[in-house]
Order: sequence, then C-alpha cells, then structure tokens
Amino acid sequence: MARIAVGGFQHETNTFAPQRATWADFERADAWPGFIRGPELIEAVEGFNIPIAGAVKMSQELGHDLVPLCWCSAPPSSYVERDAYEKVAGAILQDLAAAGPLDGIYLDLHGAMVAELHEDGEGELLGRIRALVGDKVPIVTSLDYHTNMTPEMVRHASAMIGYRTYPHIDMAETGGRAAQLLDRLLRDRRPLYKAYRQIDFLIPLVWQCTLTEPAKGIFELIGEIEQGSRRGAGSPAGSHNQGIVSITHTPGFPPADIAECGPALVVYGLDRDAAEAAADRIAAAIRDREAQFAGKLYTPDEAVVEAMRIAAHATKPVVLADIQDNPGAGGTSDTVGLLRALIAHRAKGAVIGMMVDPEAAERAEALGEGALLDCGVGAKVGYAGETPVESEWRIVRLGSGRFTGTGPMYGGAKFQIGPMALVTDEASGVSAVLASKRIQANDKEMFRHVGVEPAEVPILALKSTVHFRADFQPIAETILCVNSPGAHVSDPSELPYRHLRPGIRLRPMGPVRE
Ligand SMILES: [Zn+2]
Repeated sequence: MARIAVGGFQHETNTFAPQRATWADFERADAWPGFIRGPELIEAVEGFNIPIAGAVKMSQELGHDLVPLCWCSAPPSSYVERDAYEKVAGAILQDLAAAGPLDGIYLDLHGAMVAELHEDGEGELLGRIRALVGDKVPIVTSLDYHTNMTPEMVRHASAMIGYRTYPHIDMAETGGRAAQLLDRLLRDRRPLYKAYRQIDFLIPLVWQCTLTEPAKGIFELIGEIEQGSRRGAGSPAGSHNQGIVSITHTPGFPPADIAECGPALVVYGLDRDAAEAAADRIAAAIRDREAQFAGKLYTPDEAVVEAMRIAAHATKPVVLADIQDNPGAGGTSDTVGLLRALIAHRAKGAVIGMMVDPEAAERAEALGEGALLDCGVGAKVGYAGETPVESEWRIVRLGSGRFTGTGPMYGGAKFQIGPMALVTDEASGVSAVLASKRIQANDKEMFRHVGVEPAEVPILALKSTVHFRADFQPIAETILCVNSPGAHVSDPSELPYRHLRPGIRLRPMGPVRE
C-alpha cells in the first residue's frame, strides 16, 4: 500500500476567445463538480466520467491510501486570471506541503492551460510541485486529447497519460490508466526513459476526430506498438517494441498563442533505443498523413439549403455542427450566424442549441410558458459585431437546468446550468434552446430537458465541433460541418499568433509561421 496524493486543475485556454477564466468560473459547478478541496473530494467526483474519478477508483482497488488535494475545472475560455491560477496552484502546493511523506502524486490536468503570467500553466505547476517534493516522488498525470504538451511538462512529470478518443469517451478510463501506471512505477522503482517529439503542423479540432481517419489509424498504430511491447519477445513486432511502457500522443489545441502549441507525443520506456524508435515511427505516421487532416466545411446558407433538401426525404435528423462557436473550445455559444440562416430559409422544425443567453433565459422564466419573449436571442457577448435576433419568440417550455446526462461523454454528469427555455420563432418555426451557463451541446438530455426529443427533429444545429458525435452521430441522417462566426476559429492560419514558434505550419499542408 502506498500513500498517494490526488488532485486536479483543468483548463483549456483559447487565448483568442473574448472571456477570461476567473476564480468564480473554477468555483462553481456546471456539468462537473465545482472547486472541491480535502476529504470531500473523493465522494464529490464519484460516478463522473472524469479522469480523477477513474484514478480514485483504480487507486482504491489497488489498495492505496489516498490523500485528497483539490480538484476544479472551468469552461474553456481565454487566459486563466492570475488570481485564479495562484489560488488553485497555491492550494495544491500547500496541501502537498502539509501532507507529510508521500509515495506518489496523481494529477488530473487538461494540459492546455495558459495563465495570465504563465504561458505553460501545467509546466509551471509541475515545476513548482517537483521543486517541493524532489526528484524521488513519482508524479503521474492524465491529460486531455487537446493538450499542447510542452517540454517542461515532459521534464517534470514522471509520466503523463492522454485520452485516446475525440469525442472523449475515455476520460475516467484514462484516469484509471494513469493510476495503474503510477502503481507500476511505485513497484518497479525504475525511472522511465522519455522520447518526446513535436509535430510541425497545427491540426484544426474539426479534423482531429478519432471516429475517422487519419486520427483513427494513428491511435490504432499507437495501440499496436504498446500491445506488441506487452506481448514481449514472442513475436517479431513484440521484440522490436519491448521495453515500451506507455505512449501518449496529444494532437494539440491550436487556438493558444504560445510557443509550444501543437501536436506532440511522448513514449515512455525502460529501453532508450526502443522508446526513440517508437517515437520516430509514430511521428512519421502522423507526418505521412498530413494531407488527410481535411474535409468539407459549409457556409451557414449552403448548410441550411443542403440540410432542408436532405431532410425532406429523411427519417432521421440532419445535424449541423456550428464548429466555430463551440463553448468547449472557448466559443461564447451565443453567435447567431447559423440561427439567422435557419430563419431566413424558414427551416420549420429546426432546433438550435445551446444558445447560451442568461438574460433571455431568465426573462423566459419570469414571463412563463406561452408568453412572448421581450428581448432578442443570442449575440449578447457581441462576438464579431453580431446583434441579438429580434423576433416573435414564443416561450414553449422552461427548464431548471438541473438534470443528469445520459450520453457516452456526460453520462452520470449532474448538470447545474441555470434557467433554460425552448423558444420558437413564430414566423419560421425555428426553435432555440436557451441556457444560462456555457456548456457544449453534446448530450441529448440537454434537449429533452426542455421537451425536445432530438431524434424527432428534422434539422438539429449543435454548437460543438466534434464531441456531439458521441451522442448524436448514431441518430443523425448525416452531419454537415458549418463555418459560422465563433471564437473558436477553426483554421489556425487565420489567427494572429505572436508567440508561436517559427517554422510550424499553421494548418496541415498550410503556410509556415515565420
Ligand atoms: Zn479535449
């Protein structure tokens, strides 16, 4: 039995987004728990599909004694404010200092945090922890798929284990794998050799999905190399890969104006040559597939016309993905380009969500079902100079914003996203689901909560880039990706980087950063 400290600090920072992450954003619950510190942490995270939940469960099964630190996350947004960063990092450091002798540390990190004063939020945090506990205590972290994995993170963490799915359906599982690896390090007492590579082109999120190529094949190769290592010397592939303990590849989070932005990978092994060879092989496989990270994007008008054409003969919904206004990547989730196109083309029966508009949601709650809304919908943040959609919005159904998720990503999540409402534009028959807190439209319950059965809608517009696919692809006739204004600018070559390292291509096969 070992004594292991467990905690987490998650943020995905889109430095180009309009809203910063404040302490209050980390403090409050949304789909996931709010800031939690001390013994209550263990119970508070139980049952959620988040890494720390999986790590806690696995560590307990392995018989370890857990020392809870703190855990928190905030919705993806721009820079983490200095005060918020120092409060959380300070709590982690204080609790580690007070914990007494520890055998190991597990941390649930996203891996794309940019704080106001630290462009490598996790590298800084891990560096401070390493300075406190010294070189002998193993530190293992889990990481999001969208990590910008930096050299500092690789240096300070003993090992890091990333998700292998996008949509992320393996979050708790990844935490469990991290806990197993920490357990192995504690038993083996052998340091791991680290082979780290950065890939020299940025990959837009919309083409990072693991349900399709090329990401699917890359992660299959990674799985094969690990499996080969486990099979050992019995097979030729096995002997070649012997000594490889774990592989993490993170395709990166492009809208982060930092030097080390972009895809990277790290191979942990007991054998230096095997680890370096595997790292070269995976890096080559990614580079060989560069041109495959591509696909069709529609303008809002093209998408709505095409969706109406298909929906006329379809039995299942046509899903429109509003990929740039994804709050899971820093979008405001209130832009109205796609909503206006649906109304202009009179796409009767179409539903768009989540339209994050606390003002309209609260007005709807005050006015009641059946009344007409007395304010416009969306565009309250005003990104890209947009204005709210003024119309005869009928309040059809209200919701408290408290419900439990059922999809592959958010199953078991206890949502607390404030007043919600379904409102319908009388003239066009287009509806919007209003919410009060920024949350990505990736669970069917968000619609059912206000009386909409997603499978029965002709056209469903979702403010999400890829995650919606976990719960909505199975019910979709087809999916069209739409480029409407949003703070998650999909093509990185359109972003005004100032700190990104020179020499990296700004998108697959794209222009080189000078
Ligand atoms: Zn992610």
